[in-house]
This record gives sequence, structure tokens and C-alpha cells, in this order.
Amino acid sequence: MIPRILLAHLPTPLEAMPRLTVALGGPRLFVKRDDQTGVAFGGNKTRKLEYVLAEAQAGGARTLVTVGGIQSNHCRQTAALAARLGMRCILVLSGEPAYNPNGNVLLDTLFGAKLVWTTREERDKMLTYAFDVAWEEGDRPFLIPLGASNPTGVLGYVTAFQEFVAQQVDVDWIIVASSSAGTQAGLALGAKLANWRGKVLGISIDHPAAELQVEVARLASEAADRLGESVKLVAAEVLVNDDYLGGGYAVMGEPEIEAIKLFASTEGLLLDPVYTGRAAAGMIDLIRKGFFKPTDRVLFWHTGGTPALFAEPYARMLYSGD
Ligand SMILES: *Cc1c(COP(=O)(O)O)cnc(C)c1O
Repeated sequence: MIPRILLAHLPTPLEAMPRLTVALGGPRLFVKRDDQTGVAFGGNKTRKLEYVLAEAQAGGARTLVTVGGIQSNHCRQTAALAARLGMRCILVLSGEPAYNPNGNVLLDTLFGAKLVWTTREERDKMLTYAFDVAWEEGDRPFLIPLGASNPTGVLGYVTAFQEFVAQQVDVDWIIVASSSAGTQAGLALGAKLANWRGKVLGISIDHPAAELQVEVARLASEAADRLGESVKLVAAEVLVNDDYLGGGYAVMGEPEIEAIKLFASTEGLLLDPVYTGRAAAGMIDLIRKGFFKPTDRVLFWHTGGTPALFAEPYARMLYSGD
């Protein structure tokens, strides 16, 4: 048995989106609500951290050290779980400390995380430095990579795929936002192990498709190895669309704004400006282009991120009052 700490509220709901389906003229749309994993506004990192934190605790760690952008959902979920488990948390964040403190970064401080500020370029160096300092100070640090995307974290989404199968909603496609590759790797491996007949399509948030395919395949294969399964995934069987990179990482543009408003106004569902807004914009565009068959059933795997809606500049750009 691979160690896991049960922290998320599972299973997350799997719901139909009938009004969005009508608004887009089909195919039939569903949503898997991993924005409702239950910990501190939810999100996909909680599933990965159930495995990663079990590994950390087994090794005697007392401090979690991880990394992300200023509005990192991964850092927010890590900080919340550190608090819950009575561990310390150090977050290396790229961005401006003087920035309007709202959304995820506000929550990080409520959970008592220590914030270390850096630039995008210096981030990896600063992460190593923060880890080394914590080590020398006897804090027993444990390093969690960007997005908790290592083979251990991937197991959270292999389990998530099994959970989806058990919910017995038959779909042809799973559409998911893909960035550090762990989520898609877990779903793709889960699908392969289950001999699932549908397809998992990652909408790339910030990487060229070829790079992301290689990374998904590598993580999935290494995770399979951890499970004692002999299957391997190759890049060519990983489906990634990188047509929706827009203005770059964390830059919300018109397609994301339209998607956020459409999900909200038809289904009362909240997306986020960075990941699910972009992935949904991609799905909407693919629907309009006739990529799916009218008889297809398409599941949008919601990965969370909604606290960033309240951060600037997103909130101001989305507000449509006077
Ligand atoms: C991290 C994140 C993703 C991307 O997941 P990866 O496993 O890094 O590919 C998608 N959506 C949200 C809201 C996230 O926070």
C-alpha cells in the first residue's frame, strides 16, 4: 500500500451542465467538481498532496517548502494542509510583495505560511536556498516541486480517475487544464490502467504541446512504476492542445473572460482566471469549431483556482457593474 493521508472531501460531485450545453448547442457537457475537494476553497493539488504529504510525514518532515506564482493555488492548498497537519510551511513566491494582497496570497498568510519573495528567473535558486536554510536550522524541511507534480503526486489523479469511473457517468472526452503535467498524467495513467475507451485531452496553460506531452508521459510512466504496473505511456499517445496559450501564463484575456462569464451565467459555476478559465475557453472554441461529435459526451474536469477571481487585476477586469 502506498501511504496516503485522507484530507480531501471525496468523491467530488460529477454534475451535468444542461444550460451550458444548450447555450453552446451541444455536445452534452458534464463537470467534475475538483474545485470542491474541501480544503481551503478546494482544487486539484489537494488530491496530489494526500500522497505527497504522507511521504513527507513518513520521512519525519516538519516543514513543507514549495514554490509557485503569487496567486499559486498549489501554494495555498499546501499552506492550508500544513496548518491542518501541524507542520510549518515556507512558500517561495515569484511576484511583487507590495501587490494588492488578495486571493490566494492573502489565504497563504492566514494559514501562517512564511513567504519568501523572488522573481520568476531566480525562483529555483531561491527554492534551493530556502530549503538549505531550513535544513541548517533543524526544521526538517521537505521539498514539494511546482504543482506537486512528481510521480507520488500523480497517484492522486490515478485515484481520481477510479473515482470518476465509480460514478458511472459515461463520457467520451475528459477536458482538463494542464500545466505542470501531474493532473493529466494521473488521469491518462488511470484511463490506461482501466482500459477506458474515452480520451483525456489536456488544454495547455503555458507550455508547447510537444513539451507537455513528454512530461505527462514521463510522469505517468514513473507513477505506473511506483504502482508496480508495467505499463508505459509515450508522448504520442498523450493528447494536448496548445492553441490557447493567449498572452502567456496568468494573463487573462478575452477568451478566458468570456468562458468565466458563460459558466457563471448559465450554470452558476465559478472558473478561475489562470487555469480553468483558459481550459474552458479552449473547450468552448473546440465546440464551436465542431471538434466534438454532436452525440459526444464531454466532461470538463474542474481543477479549482477560484480564489484568484478576487485578486487584481482579474477582479477589476471581470467586474461588470457600474
Ligand atoms: C495547478 C493547477 C492546474 C494544473 O494542474 P497540473 O497538475 O499542474 O497540470 C489546473 N488548474 C488549477 C486551478 C491549478 O491550480
